[in-house]
Amino acid sequence: MAEQFDVVVIGAGPAGYHAAIRAAQLGMKTACIDAALGKDGKPALGGTCLRVGCVPSKALLDSTHQYENMLHKFDQHGISFKDAAMDVPKMIARKDGIVKQFTGGIAMLFKANKVTPYYGFGQLQPGNVVKVKQHDGSEVELKGTNVIIAAGSDSIELPFAKFDGETIVDNVGALDFTDVPKRLAVIGAGVIGLELGSVWKRLGAEVTILEAMPEFLAAADAEVSKLAAREFKKQGLDIRLGAKVSKAEVTGKGKKKEVQVTFADGKGEQTIAVDRLLVAVGRRAATKGLLAEGTGVQVNERGQIVVDEHCHTGVDGVWAIGDCVRGPMLAHKGFEEGIAVAELIAGLPGHVNFDTIPWVIYTGPEIAWVGKTEQQLKAEGVPYKAGSFPFAAVGRAVAMAEPTGFVKVIAHAETDRVLGLHIIGANASELVHEGVLTMEFKGSADDLARICHAHPTLSEAVHDAAMAVDKRAIHKA
Ligand code: FAD
Repeated sequence: MAEQFDVVVIGAGPAGYHAAIRAAQLGMKTACIDAALGKDGKPALGGTCLRVGCVPSKALLDSTHQYENMLHKFDQHGISFKDAAMDVPKMIARKDGIVKQFTGGIAMLFKANKVTPYYGFGQLQPGNVVKVKQHDGSEVELKGTNVIIAAGSDSIELPFAKFDGETIVDNVGALDFTDVPKRLAVIGAGVIGLELGSVWKRLGAEVTILEAMPEFLAAADAEVSKLAAREFKKQGLDIRLGAKVSKAEVTGKGKKKEVQVTFADGKGEQTIAVDRLLVAVGRRAATKGLLAEGTGVQVNERGQIVVDEHCHTGVDGVWAIGDCVRGPMLAHKGFEEGIAVAELIAGLPGHVNFDTIPWVIYTGPEIAWVGKTEQQLKAEGVPYKAGSFPFAAVGRAVAMAEPTGFVKVIAHAETDRVLGLHIIGANASELVHEGVLTMEFKGSADDLARICHAHPTLSEAVHDAAMAVDKRAIHKA
């Protein structure tokens, strides 16, 4: 006999745990099932994001940023030291501690909000029943008046470069190297490839990034991508564009083990030898084994669960959110969908504005944007005006020894409504929210320019870029 719940959530990643906690807050009897185990072999809630994604990658980015500052920036502050050394196992242990703190935190939040956790693999059956195969081998059935699928995504594996967890890895392996690979190749110059490539480059690895597309960071504003490419090159990241990888062969044994990576670019076919290969070519919705025969839930050609704009699958009481459905694969997109669906189930208005979802790449310098790029607006024939402002002219940025980069505000040429905010520079990940707020409240560049910003702060660059939209920036010669 299946236990009855108002809401059963499959997956306790960012999308699923937000949905579960919000549903429980709204008075619904809620269960949340997750199959994942942590490094210690025990159940770990929080999904890709907390275990092997957003949080651990940022922990390593921060450790290596500190190390890099010590090597390259301390001197200008007059700080000297004798020997700089990075204890990689200690850095990884710190990261693991943060992951444990946060995954454990979700278990505490479930308890405090009376969400019942189930640890095991859930499969949706017809009639909104979820069969859970628990880690001890036992099975339970849960019936939900509503079922929310939040199964997330898995790394895409290339047929010629199978993950072995040691030499050819995905994000999980690259977050856990216990020494610095002398030579690291990365397939894919997307967010994950650039962030994890930066981590190991900062610690001394020779990093070659092979990107099949001819353009670098095509999704970002073209001026931002151009500066990013220049900065990454300066840092020594060897980014090869239009490089199509066809083979990855592990040769040698023990300490002599290496990977021969064959790719073709404008210069023809080449093979490079590296110590480790990170494959970061994207992620695919994790829908394998999730749906039993006859549920009626549709999966598209990309493996994503088909939903409408409210995340409803078309099957009565069955919803799907996060990485396993259309839209950007971002934790905060999943958060918002989780909350929206829980509120819709409770009869409240629930909505996600896809036009104001911020994008961030946590490299040095950071890159962040919201809304449209200049190239998108040109292609759509939308009349616009743009104003930009360099961090080199912002007192706080220079005082922080972070003069690289700029802020660009794009507004509609006739209405002045903000259509996009693009930032490359220190703390771009925080500053971008000025654009998110302005766009969410349908504000104009003039609104942003008339808002008093504290001095000296990095956010003055946003203010001055907004002023520059109408060519009235004070600090621009
Ligand atoms: P997931 O986080 O994948 O969680 C799904 C959960 O469901 C998992 O725990 C899984 O075990 C469980 N599950 C799946 N199927 C079943 C089943 N049938 N039964 C039971 N349990 C199941 N995004 C950002 O916004 N910012 C970042 O800085 C960022 N950095 C990233 C860095 C890396 C290295 C990676 C890999 C990703 C990063 N992301 C980042 C993306 C982010 O992690 C995902 O967008 C986010 O985790 C998706 O949330 P989700 O809840 O949809 O799925």
